[in-house]
Amino acid sequence: MLEPSTPVQFVKGIGPKLSEILANKGIQTVDDLVHYLPFRYEDRQNPRGIAELQLGEMGTLIAEVRTSGLFRTRRMPIFQLTVGQGRNRLKCIWFNGSYLRDKFQPGQLVALYGKVDLNRGEPQLVNPEFEILGEEDKAEEKAAESLEVGRIVPIYESAGQGKLTSRWFRKIIHNALKDLTPDLPEAIPAAICKRLNLPSARKALWEVHWPIEGESLLDLQSRRTPAHIRMIFEELFFIELGLELKRREQKAKTGIAFELNDRVREAIKKILPFHPTGAQKRALKEIASDMQKPFPMRRLLQGDVGSGKTLVAFEAAIIAIENGFQVGLMAPTEILAQQHYFSARRILEPSGYRIVLLTGSLEEDRKREIRRHIAQGSAQLVIGTHALIEHKVDFAKPGLVIVDEQHRFGVMQRSKLMQKTAESGNDRVGTGAPARLAEPIPEADVLVMTATPIPRTLALTLYGDLDISVLDEMPPGRTPIVTRRVGDERSDEVWQFVRKQVAAGHQAYVVYPVIEEKESELKAAMKMYGELSKRVLPDLQVAVLHGRMEADLKEQVMRLFQQGKIQVLVSTTVIEVGVDVPNATVMVVEHAERFGLAQLHQLRGRIGRGAAKSYCVLMTGGKVSEDGERRLDALVRTNDGFQIAELDLELRGPGEFFGTRQAGLPSFQVASLIRDRDLLEIAKKDAAAVLSAPNSEISQTEIERALWQMRTRWQKTYGLVEVG
Ligand code: ADP
Ligand code: MG
Repeated sequence: MLEPSTPVQFVKGIGPKLSEILANKGIQTVDDLVHYLPFRYEDRQNPRGIAELQLGEMGTLIAEVRTSGLFRTRRMPIFQLTVGQGRNRLKCIWFNGSYLRDKFQPGQLVALYGKVDLNRGEPQLVNPEFEILGEEDKAEEKAAESLEVGRIVPIYESAGQGKLTSRWFRKIIHNALKDLTPDLPEAIPAAICKRLNLPSARKALWEVHWPIEGESLLDLQSRRTPAHIRMIFEELFFIELGLELKRREQKAKTGIAFELNDRVREAIKKILPFHPTGAQKRALKEIASDMQKPFPMRRLLQGDVGSGKTLVAFEAAIIAIENGFQVGLMAPTEILAQQHYFSARRILEPSGYRIVLLTGSLEEDRKREIRRHIAQGSAQLVIGTHALIEHKVDFAKPGLVIVDEQHRFGVMQRSKLMQKTAESGNDRVGTGAPARLAEPIPEADVLVMTATPIPRTLALTLYGDLDISVLDEMPPGRTPIVTRRVGDERSDEVWQFVRKQVAAGHQAYVVYPVIEEKESELKAAMKMYGELSKRVLPDLQVAVLHGRMEADLKEQVMRLFQQGKIQVLVSTTVIEVGVDVPNATVMVVEHAERFGLAQLHQLRGRIGRGAAKSYCVLMTGGKVSEDGERRLDALVRTNDGFQIAELDLELRGPGEFFGTRQAGLPSFQVASLIRDRDLLEIAKKDAAAVLSAPNSEISQTEIERALWQMRTRWQKTYGLVEVG
């Protein structure tokens, strides 16, 4: 009998060598193996006869190899295979098919899957997938054969450079399922299984691999059979359970109950440079209500670029400061920290708040002095980059931490960060005040701000541990940005347009794709800057900004641009985050096809911040990929960050959505955040229901079993993590 936790090498047919290949695929236990699901299914119940194949359709066919050979055309080698059923014959071709040269022997039985095309009036399969059937010992063939034909057959991705074929997985997984212990623990409470009509864990496992007779192929491909739904739900349910538990743990801790009296309200009103939007009011209300409660706030403020998050953050800061606490505001880059610092001084300093900026580029002496102010409590609002505030700062009385994260963190990274920041001020209290040790030390509130709207499904998983406030309304007086696509052969017109806008008193950004500040790319950007400043727009004030410049210089350039003394700013993506110059009305993006969708949207958010009409010109040079076309189209079509985020998620998948595969994002075995939104919502609700039990539906034992299973899963997904 195999247990889920048994190492794979004890499965019949897998030795130590093969288990190594599997380990590279992340398959170590029997449980991993049986969760290696087919990526599609092939209907081999009634495979088609050659004569029945439909043009333009995907066809499945089982036939005998007749002849094969490699042909060289002028452009590429083409491998040609002819298969037959009785008298009927069919040609299959593979472009660049040299690798297939010695693959087929006449008389072999092959299963083929591919699109039926017409070539000189004859149907043929082009680049079909194939599987050679019945290659093994005669003795095994009979038993194995029933897994190959006469049924719906699971197709697996091969592994180990093709060494472990789909056919191999079919057999091995079949073995594993056969020997798997019949009593898999049922970790989803019975009431939930019943309501959602979920089959048992074991039945579901069988049926995702080996569909029951008569199962709809369409349901299988779209992962909507009861077995699939069970597997997907299970995966989402345990993630949501962990997140929900984390949320509740936070609420069980001791926090600071800030007071929101008339004096504090007055202080907030005093700073307001304009009427807050309805969304800003609502968000502040939610934040203020959290802050008044005696447990730590963990809230996400989500809003499109330009929706006015900064103002809300400052209002929250005032609540903490007026209560005698300090506030830390952490930005992802130095430029953005500076930007926040400028705004804070403009908006908060008139009320007499003491604000400091702590950046890496300051001189050591100055840094030390600032740290002293923070440690003594005389600095009330501390603005800096994540790195700076994270480790070296000792707050006298931390009350609120604002993380402007620009979605660079996943669940795990964030929870580490929060732990650290929440503790940063407490070390001193803990060691310095031994007399009151029995009292728990209150944790600071945390407000996370994120610039790109996050599709709801992602928010539910990525930020499932946070409460969410959304700014879904733009400040008044904005005119929507007009976005156009232009091939770079028309650049003269584009520069003429920039000139006209500048003549009208506005400013322009020209963005060049230097994404990781690489030397070679930077060179191209600098060349382009030279070209613009010397030849194309010699009479305008043109400056350049990139990530490798000295911080002082960067700051100076930003200030001059803000003051309107620079008219055209040539820049790399360093301006992507947070820069706020309402007088800038044009953005020209060079090689727009090289940027990601979310990134272009972020960039574009730098304009359209004032009352004047703004223009975004997406220049493309050379050939644009199909996905590139879709990205650019989407930007031309809409300014709605949520729509763009949804499309971005669809185009790139959740892992890539955040730039790189982030450690904090669960990678799902079965579920898809795009396909399974509905199930995710249900899973979240049910996870919350379980934690509010026991009741007449869910027993204490069921809760314990669910939590136990959840911990095992989290352990596997995130490594060493404490939940619960
Ligand atoms: P983001 O959400 O991208 O951080 P900001 O906080 O930088 O947005 O705000 C964008 C611009 O909108 C800023 O120039 C800010 O001063 C302005 N703004 C914010 N709230 C309002 C409001 N209620 N009315 C008018 N302008 C506002
Ligand atoms: Mg901002």
